Amino acid sequence: MASPSSYSKTPRNREAVIIAGGGIGGLAAALALARKGFKSVVLEQAPQFGEIGAGIQIAPNAWHALDALGVGQLVKKEAVFIERLLMFDGVSGEKVIDIPLDQRFAKRFGNPYAVTHRADIHGSLLDGCKALPQLIELRTSSRVSGFAIEDGGVRVTLADGQALRGMALVAADGGKSVIREAIVGDPLPPATGHMCYRAVLNINDVPKDLRLPAATLWAAHNTHIVHYPLRGWKLFNLVATVIGKHTSGGHNEAATPEEALPFFSHYCDAVMKLMRTPKEFRRWMLQYREPVENWIRGPVALLGDAAHFMLQYMAQGAAMAMEDAVCLGQCADAADGDFTRAFRDYQERRIVRASRVQISANSLIGQIFHVADGLPREVRNDMFRGRPPERYYDALEWVFSAPDYVREFKAQRAPRRLARAAAARRRPPSRQRD
Ligand SMILES: Cc1cc2nc3c(=O)[nH]c(=O)nc-3n(C[C@H](O)[C@H](O)[C@H](O)COP(=O)(O)OP(=O)(O)OC[C@H]3O[C@@H](n4cnc5c(N)ncnc54)[C@H](O)[C@@H]3O)c2cc1C
Repeated sequence: MASPSSYSKTPRNREAVIIAGGGIGGLAAALALARKGFKSVVLEQAPQFGEIGAGIQIAPNAWHALDALGVGQLVKKEAVFIERLLMFDGVSGEKVIDIPLDQRFAKRFGNPYAVTHRADIHGSLLDGCKALPQLIELRTSSRVSGFAIEDGGVRVTLADGQALRGMALVAADGGKSVIREAIVGDPLPPATGHMCYRAVLNINDVPKDLRLPAATLWAAHNTHIVHYPLRGWKLFNLVATVIGKHTSGGHNEAATPEEALPFFSHYCDAVMKLMRTPKEFRRWMLQYREPVENWIRGPVALLGDAAHFMLQYMAQGAAMAMEDAVCLGQCADAADGDFTRAFRDYQERRIVRASRVQISANSLIGQIFHVADGLPREVRNDMFRGRPPERYYDALEWVFSAPDYVREFKAQRAPRRLARAAAARRRPPSRQRD
């Protein structure tokens, strides 16, 4: 591995790396490259950087990536460190899975498990990028529409007709990536029928017996419900998922309780009390893609959802995007800025792990969460009932443990500017888009 030149004030690259998309993946990529001394320009299509959505779970591997990027401490300020991962049978109300997230867990995986608001994790990455203006340029209202590989670099075109040259292009433009169309050529992700109803509640409105220090999942035929506390226990995140008939193709649309509740009429009253609390839900139509064997073309690479768009059931999509970013920074460093070589190395290191998470997310639904009522439900409950924590920890080892490249990256010192930004940080409420 080449020696890290992350802390030099002079960028290693004369031409910037262009990053399409300023979501969690794109900002993480800019930070990872900056920590290795590479400058980048992040092109975000929206008029401002921000995150749509509500809560997000941060497993130990995601914390390792955040620490490697130098923003773990920022994110920790707002996160809630929950004590358990729970699964209840949605019909009978029986507790089926109970995974303690105590000292044993943190020791085993080198980090705890937490939940936070998406705006907080995105905002921390953004603060990290803003603290390094000599290495990271952030541009809004810049929609990438295409690219061409040319001598020693890439020419990227924007929807408004502008063109930009860079030494490489990282496509972090999400599940409907336009760059993916050119590299992989698969059609847009199809409608899946999976949809979720989300709400962020004031904690005081939540039934007292459900204010659990846990990420809690209720499972019943064709549906499941997830909830956990947010923002220092002031807010409460509720996500209820169903495989049903599509009513629209959209994201973040208003939906009434009258629309949502009938899908969950087979649930016990313990959780229906909570489901009846929101006056309005936000409806999300979920999409995903099948894993593919190629994410790269020369000095162009896909990252995050653009590479491995997955259903959220493993709660790992953002974690995978951040791990991608760290790996990409590490590979760029090792290849000393030869991005064609770096991206080959990046794909080789990342593709199996990310695809495994993609595939696992799908199988959780069929095998555990949405099993039919009656005997399949009894069998599922019997499989998990009374299982000791170590068996869960063993089963989760592959995903919750940090890959070597994340540990190596993390072991390197964070730039002073990031540490100063951490100390000075004040989060404006305008950061959140919804
Ligand atoms: C309901 C739900 C719950 C989830 N829960 C979790 C969880 O608990 N833990 C977890 O780790 N993950 C979770 N995920 C997954 C996670 O949200 C995503 O995997 C992650 O946000 C992907 O980040 P990204 O940057 O790759 O893509 P995105 O977040 O989609 O960001 C892409 C960015 O690119 C911009 N963009 C798009 N096209 C262009 C273009 N042509 N030019 C310029 N900019 C463009 C977009 O505006 C956006 O800002 C969840 C997802 C859902 C739907």
